[in-house]
Amino acid sequence: MSIFRMALRSCRLSSQSFCAAHMHQDFRFFRQMSMDAQSIAAQLNTSGIFRTQGLIGGKWTEAYEGNTIKVHNPATGDVIANVPCMGKRETSDAISSAYDAFSSWSKLAASQRSKFLRKWYDLLIAHKEVLGKLITLEQGKPLIEAMGEISYGASFIEFYAEEAKRVYGDIIPATLADRRLFVLKQPVGVVGAITPWNFPLAMITRKVGPALACGCTVVIKPSELTPLTALAAAELSLQAGIPPGVVNVVMGNASDIGDTLLESPQVRKITFTGSTAVGKKLMAGSAATVKKVSLELGGNAPCMVFDDADLDVAVKGSLAAKFRNSGQTCVCVNRIIVQEGIYEKFAKAFAIAVQNLKVGNGFTEGVAQGPLINEAAVQKVESFIQDAVSKGATVMLGGKRHSLGMTFYEPTVISNANSEMLISREEVFGPVAPLIRFKTEEEAIRIANDTNAGLASYIFTTNVQRSWRVSEALEYGLVGVNEGIISTEVAPFGGFKQSGLGREGSKYGIDEYLEIKYICLGNMDRA
Ligand code: ADP
Repeated sequence: MSIFRMALRSCRLSSQSFCAAHMHQDFRFFRQMSMDAQSIAAQLNTSGIFRTQGLIGGKWTEAYEGNTIKVHNPATGDVIANVPCMGKRETSDAISSAYDAFSSWSKLAASQRSKFLRKWYDLLIAHKEVLGKLITLEQGKPLIEAMGEISYGASFIEFYAEEAKRVYGDIIPATLADRRLFVLKQPVGVVGAITPWNFPLAMITRKVGPALACGCTVVIKPSELTPLTALAAAELSLQAGIPPGVVNVVMGNASDIGDTLLESPQVRKITFTGSTAVGKKLMAGSAATVKKVSLELGGNAPCMVFDDADLDVAVKGSLAAKFRNSGQTCVCVNRIIVQEGIYEKFAKAFAIAVQNLKVGNGFTEGVAQGPLINEAAVQKVESFIQDAVSKGATVMLGGKRHSLGMTFYEPTVISNANSEMLISREEVFGPVAPLIRFKTEEEAIRIANDTNAGLASYIFTTNVQRSWRVSEALEYGLVGVNEGIISTEVAPFGGFKQSGLGREGSKYGIDEYLEIKYICLGNMDRA
């Protein structure tokens, strides 16, 4: 049996080089894959949600010039599908569709929009297994994590189906007796939503849920590395009866699509999750048309383990916060800062726990860690480890590519790290845990805050006063106390400093998609 393997290429190739002029041949590629992949492919093909075209105005659409991008399985290198490599013209048409759809979608009663969203949520949950498999196939995370992402991702649609009905205004006591003052909240308009590959569903639903709930329409640009989950979710939005043009999906040439969204006066809001560098570009580019902007950017999460921590809780919590999704989330622990009294005990117990993480294809039973997304990600991890070792750190465990090949990397623990190392200054986005020793609480807070990032942070202590004191001192948008996995649809998610602007999830998340309008009724004393 011939297995079609391709070396994974960096996602950072220019679009011109990865857009190739060949037409869709998805099922042919599937026939060239391994038996396991074939059976998953067969399930996907019959599921009715496996879409490989963009969605513009309710129509599944090829790139206008026929160019395509290959989507790979990072665990095997197999080509899973070809999707259209779209650019400016397709994006303009998607914006026009969203703009046209806005006039009717925004005028529906909130309870009507709520019903559409609820139906979409039900369909996402009904397709949980097949959507989970699609995520594992294109992103690589273990199936159990992928299924968890479907529940998590869908929960934003459910939450905002409910929240749609609670977009309240205000009546303000007037300063003049003959006036009545009101505040209305109204949808901002067309939203451009640009999302990354690490959570192919949840990063979309966190944006599209609140946007649609309050009456906005969207043009989604998923990562070119993981577009299939986005397209499947869009298909389910149509099956839920959400009208054509309310949800549009384009993918391909990221900067052409991004520039078109930025330049359009019809796009009133940009919402983005991804790198800080691209976030800054989008923020700058939004200035010309003064768009509303929300950004979820990179983190540099500290995990502080105090002498008074419960060792077992600290090891389990920091393990989960470090190694989920192979370290590829913006809330993953980047630095473990450990007090000197517990350092040796913690390092030993943590390394044992890390050693037990099974690495492999996300479809294999018991696997806790899949491949990294691509070769560039592995090279970044390697360079950070090299830098740390050259500055005096010691590799306690791992520190090299896994024998499975491809982009698999051994879960790694580094001891004697310090704040001068690249790994402490920048987000490694991989399965590497550096341990930094500290003496006092003040020193730990100083180390933790010594960064431009400010997204997630974690504290392990059994002292309740310390937990509150340190939580207040941390310059971070999220603090987990004795807990490593804290994201939920009901709580606000977002960063301080250069980790971003705005919040996603919770009652706060919908404000990002609303304009506030003040209405003054004058001369109310006239008969
Ligand atoms: P990552 O390093 O996680 O891939 P990126 O910020 O590069 O993060 O990518 C996140 C998302 O931003 C992806 O959908 C990517 O295609 C998109 N993107 C990258 N460059 C641009 C750009 N210049 N304009 C708009 N979107 C972009």
